[in-house]
Amino acid sequence: MMNVQLTIPSMMERAETFFKKKEVISRSTKGMERFTYEETGKRTRKLSSMLVELGVERGDRVGTFAWNHHRHLEAYFAIPGIGAVLHTINIRLDPQQIIYVINHAKDKVLLIDECFLPLFEKIYQELPHVEAYIIMSDEPSLPESSVKPIYHYEELLKRGDETFAFLSDIQEEEPAGICYTSATTGKPKGVVYSHRGIYLHCMALGLRDGAELSEADIAMPVVPMFHVNAWGLPFAAVWLGTTFVMPGAFFTPTILAEMIQNEKVTIAAGVPTIWLGLLQELEKGEYDTSHVRAFLCGGSAAPLSVIQRFEEKFNIPFMHAYGMTETSPLVTISRLKSYQEEKSAPERLALKAKQGFLVPGVEMKVIGQNGEVDWDGNEMGELLLRGPWIASEYYEDDRTSEAFKDGWLYTGDVVTVDEEGFIKIVDRTKDLIKSGGEWISSVDIENALMGHEGVFEASVIAVPHEKWQERPVACVVLKEGYTAQVTKEDILTFLSPQFAKWWLPDDVIFMDEIPKTTVGKFLKRALREKVLERYEL
Ligand code: ADP
Repeated sequence: MMNVQLTIPSMMERAETFFKKKEVISRSTKGMERFTYEETGKRTRKLSSMLVELGVERGDRVGTFAWNHHRHLEAYFAIPGIGAVLHTINIRLDPQQIIYVINHAKDKVLLIDECFLPLFEKIYQELPHVEAYIIMSDEPSLPESSVKPIYHYEELLKRGDETFAFLSDIQEEEPAGICYTSATTGKPKGVVYSHRGIYLHCMALGLRDGAELSEADIAMPVVPMFHVNAWGLPFAAVWLGTTFVMPGAFFTPTILAEMIQNEKVTIAAGVPTIWLGLLQELEKGEYDTSHVRAFLCGGSAAPLSVIQRFEEKFNIPFMHAYGMTETSPLVTISRLKSYQEEKSAPERLALKAKQGFLVPGVEMKVIGQNGEVDWDGNEMGELLLRGPWIASEYYEDDRTSEAFKDGWLYTGDVVTVDEEGFIKIVDRTKDLIKSGGEWISSVDIENALMGHEGVFEASVIAVPHEKWQERPVACVVLKEGYTAQVTKEDILTFLSPQFAKWWLPDDVIFMDEIPKTTVGKFLKRALREKVLERYEL
């Protein structure tokens, strides 16, 4: 067979050749902007040419600090297109972490949304490797700024070469991207993605048994383009010629619902907190979502009640998937096997609420206290992974040996596996509640809590206990209109038929909000501190 290199420029070239008329749709301060793939290709090539003019060379890192929009998409291809490395920076990190990741990656050029310019005014002097700041703006000129040297994205593009040729001899093992984990503890860890890894991961996204992404789709990543490359969707969508809709900056559930309706989105992707907000919006009953074929949900466990509400009330199939920054991210998807479709509705729902089984290309081992666990849906162990889009190390980081051993990635996720190979994430190792020598899954209790009609969101954490070592405590945010009605006793009565008595939380604390990580997951560390403070522990 020919040893053809699997590289990212070939993806954009395919879109330019076969899908000239298909569109990229981007919400900006000017409204909805539309670009054909022919235009997107030209703009991408212009950006590539200007990055070269600014001195970016093969292997250099170029950072993006941006929301999901068309310019960010252009950067996704323009940077790897010249052999440089796309560093998508999490805009919600704190300033010290932002400085850390930019300096650790040694970003040479940064592409920044105009709304973040005030932040960079404060930190740019601490970024010694950055030689140019390109500001992505909807306005014709930039505000006065102390950040230097500074360029207007659109002005640069005017000078760019729309016929610029992408690098033709890129080797598939070369780095194309780098993402840092959101690091709830310690400094963020960098994961480098090769052209080959991204390419093969896109294939999995397109598989009928994967995310089934295709040309016919109108796809909207709500998941940020800095969160594991919006789960690979921007690369796959361009390659496949999918119409790509991006929600832009500062969106709300109302904006998302309107975009889904008006652009006739067929597939959207996001973390559970996004879907919780959207559910409330859709339940107002004002939107047509009949064209949606799937909502892809990952990043945290999707509560069964959420899946049920989408599927039964709105007839929207819910695709529950699992992965992490280290895995590009797609590892499992909760799709029923053909013969499982015959099961009863509650059984099918219970299966969908699991994280599913491996997509083709990835291998796993689950190691418990006595070696590999039985596939009985009961025995717990840590999930180990390997595959062509699973990282083999952290970028220049001595924490590599903690997670990568003997050719396997140790995920730090505790799972069970059933006889069909469906994994269920029980907890992250550090969030499992150890009560009297037994383990309690905080995730299971959270999922059950979110099935209560008055509960908007809920998180369960461990608090120290003299006798039992740790005990679960539930933190609950009630829906509007329920605050005066639901009591701790109501919650415990609701849970009690679903769990053994010793699993029931010792306390239920009502709050206005649960602290979240930068990518919208429950921030259990902060929550634990809050609760311990309250107990004066
Ligand atoms: P970070 O590791 O910085 O939180 P990631 O997005 O890489 O950022 O998080 C990966 C982790 O998220 C996984 O290890 C797992 O614990 C959790 N996770 C991802 N998807 C799911 C899911 N569908 N169900 C439960 N947990 C999930």
